[in-house]
Amino acid sequence: MKIKKGDIVKILTGTSKGKTGKVLNVFLQNGTVTVEGVNLHKKHTRPRKQGQQGQVVEFPAPLPSSKVALVCPKCGKTTRVGYVMKAGEKKRRVCKKCRTIID
Ligand SMILES: [Zn+2]
Repeated sequence: MKIKKGDIVKILTGTSKGKTGKVLNVFLQNGTVTVEGVNLHKKHTRPRKQGQQGQVVEFPAPLPSSKVALVCPKCGKTTRVGYVMKAGEKKRRVCKKCRTIID
């Protein structure tokens, strides 16, 4: 998975196409992500206790990570992600456009 929690991504398809937002969660099991303010679904909750009101909660639903593109924090463009490895270091992500190490 090339997208990580906290990344800024751009939505490529669907009703939120063109929007950007922060990745709130990454689900590795099925390759989906949730993005702040994107793909909002409404959930109606019933009152649980007496006197409590039922309400409508908006929450971002997961969307496939292939439908989002990473926005490089350095050059601000949507980019593909490459990897660099140095001896004795962890694999790090790099912007394919400006070659900046992202994390
Ligand atoms: Zn870049």
